[in-house]
Amino acid sequence: MDLKKYIADVPDYPEKGIVFRDISPLMADGAAYSFATNEIVKYAKDKGVEMIVGPEARGFIVGCPVAYELGIGFAPARKKGKLPRETIEVTYGLEYGEDTLQIHQDAIKPGQKVLVCDDLLATGGTIAATIELIEKLGGEVVGTAFLVELKDLYGRDRIKGYDVLALMEF
Ligand code: 5GP
Repeated sequence: MDLKKYIADVPDYPEKGIVFRDISPLMADGAAYSFATNEIVKYAKDKGVEMIVGPEARGFIVGCPVAYELGIGFAPARKKGKLPRETIEVTYGLEYGEDTLQIHQDAIKPGQKVLVCDDLLATGGTIAATIELIEKLGGEVVGTAFLVELKDLYGRDRIKGYDVLALMEF
């Protein structure tokens, strides 16, 4: 299936000069959403994945249906202050300033094989921080899966050594 036709290009969003790749038409189409989910499910099965982690908020959209289909768990990585129980955190650099991601300290069991899912790989900062959280808890990141990869931003270089599945490249 040609998934690219379900990605809407939004010029000058969120700021001038940026073309935002909007995944909502893909989510809105049952066949496309299901196809994309099943591609990631196949990848996860090959890797023997036992748990899915996705960063807020579009990582939930991609990761949760994969976890459901596999009958395994999903743990959210969220912006600071959103998770109600004891957390661990990682602070990472953005183009301007920094951000903090947290995960519940009991979200991953030591040795668990984890797949990280998000909608899009850009500079890799978000996924690198998510990987760090999982590893701090003793999880083993066996792969990363995205709907979209923006090749020009070299996110793969930021997470060298980790396997990457990207369903579309721009
Ligand atoms: P990175 O941390 O790799 O630079 O940026 C990826 C994160 O930012 C992802 O969590 C993703 O949701 C968000 N993001 C950045 N640019 C875009 C975009 O053009 N489209 C979408 N859908 N998400 C984006």
